[in-house]
Amino acid sequence: MSQTPLKLFNSLTRQLEEFQPIHPGEARVYSCGPTVYNYPHIGNMRAYVFADVLGRTLSFKGYKLTHVINITDVGHLTDDADAGEDKMEKMAAARAQSIWDIARHYTEAYWADVKALNIRQPAKWTIATDYIDEMIRFAADIAAKHCYELDSGLYFDVSTVADYGRLARAQTEEGEGRIEAVEGKRNAADFAIWRKTPPGETRQMEWDSPWGRGAPGWHLECSVMSGAVLGFPFDIHTGGIDHREIHHPNEIAQNQAHCCTNGLDVAANSGANIWMHNNFLVERSGKMSKSAGEFLRLQLLIDKGYHPLAYRLMCLQAHYRSELEFSFAYLAGTLARLKRLVIQVERLKGRHAELVSASMSQHQPREREEGWTLKQVQGDVEPKHLGLIEAFDEQISQDLNTSNALVLLDEALSNKKVPIEEQVAIVAAMDAVLGLNLFDLARADLRIRPKAATITEAEIEAKLAARKEARAAKDFATSDALRDELAARGVEVMDGDPLGWDWKLGE
Ligand code: AMP
Ligand code: ZN
Repeated sequence: MSQTPLKLFNSLTRQLEEFQPIHPGEARVYSCGPTVYNYPHIGNMRAYVFADVLGRTLSFKGYKLTHVINITDVGHLTDDADAGEDKMEKMAAARAQSIWDIARHYTEAYWADVKALNIRQPAKWTIATDYIDEMIRFAADIAAKHCYELDSGLYFDVSTVADYGRLARAQTEEGEGRIEAVEGKRNAADFAIWRKTPPGETRQMEWDSPWGRGAPGWHLECSVMSGAVLGFPFDIHTGGIDHREIHHPNEIAQNQAHCCTNGLDVAANSGANIWMHNNFLVERSGKMSKSAGEFLRLQLLIDKGYHPLAYRLMCLQAHYRSELEFSFAYLAGTLARLKRLVIQVERLKGRHAELVSASMSQHQPREREEGWTLKQVQGDVEPKHLGLIEAFDEQISQDLNTSNALVLLDEALSNKKVPIEEQVAIVAAMDAVLGLNLFDLARADLRIRPKAATITEAEIEAKLAARKEARAAKDFATSDALRDELAARGVEVMDGDPLGWDWKLGE
């Protein structure tokens, strides 16, 4: 029975590489998590849908996955226009609220989005402020050979490690120098790993350290949390493509300094074997910007009547390394595709349930929660029926080609040649990788009434029932009047829609 080797694009080498686990049978993955000073936008969430599909693929291929995502609640600076303030401190000052309350509120909001997008819980969420002691120890270990102190903090000297910025393919003029010009820096790209609190000021979040009272730098946090939980080197480090330019080169420099068994070789000492980056979700009208009032949060999509998993499907339709352009028109099309998938799975479940209740089935359906591995499917399904799941494996193993994998899911759903139990096993395994939760969704779940709608669902249903009666009695004048009345209130009646929409609320 065949299994395709997993190939992943390594940003360090800019090449597809075969995944070779460091610990046999295991996969250890670290994903840079959100800075919890505000709600995540849907672009941020694309990064976690991508990391989730990666994790699910590793599970499908039989690896025991340990996934860590961090929560940055200290130390992440704003861009140059704000001259390097801490994002959390800035938001807390603007709101006159405690940083800890802000962190808690937005962490919970982020977790709600994680759940709504059916992103699996990682083995561990590391919270940056829980690792301050470890950060101070890490910094103290590398300080003598790699850092220097200025009035404002402890800085990492990028010239002390080989090939700084190799991940970004950048010259040292880039990097942290773009964020904040600091007098006394030896190289433009040098970055603070510990920021001292300026004399006479107090911060809400500050700790004592050998370099004075202050707070850790953002890059230090990820080096410390990833190494502390997963051990250096671990298998895969993920993040959005913006992190390939500054944050990850800086993490790598710190990891080189810390591991330093062979500090001249970036690949051997970067901390992770493979560095992976998702491309951006883009939106033309600027609604992705968190500073622009109403911005594109997942909740905004829900308020407009879209099921959050339609957004997940939208992410899967593109390759994670391609830019993905968001529009509501595209999302509406994706929701229709999701609905078609759900209807097909409902039919499949129905046929399967009949079989089970008629006791013609040998097996009870396997628990799907943990997902199925390819090996399990290969054990449960006759070899001559394995073509589609093995083709799916081939596509997903080719650097997570989710858009081709979705086509194979469509084929598996309409395949009449496979016995029903085997079809259920194949579709469930595919869904365990894609994470669309198709077996638990009902078509009614996908019909969400937009928040702004003034009509209740019960009213719509009542008018539709009256209209159905009128049509049955061939009273087309009443039926048309009811249709127009609904249209005037924003509800489009979708007669004869092959996907079974009964009604839809206009944009
Ligand atoms: P942040 O909270 O700013 O650290 O971002 C969280 C994650 O979202 C990081 O991995 C970023 O690289 C990623 N990210 C930020 N903007 C986008 C976007 N428009 N599309 C996809 N990923 C993004
Ligand atoms: Zn990070």
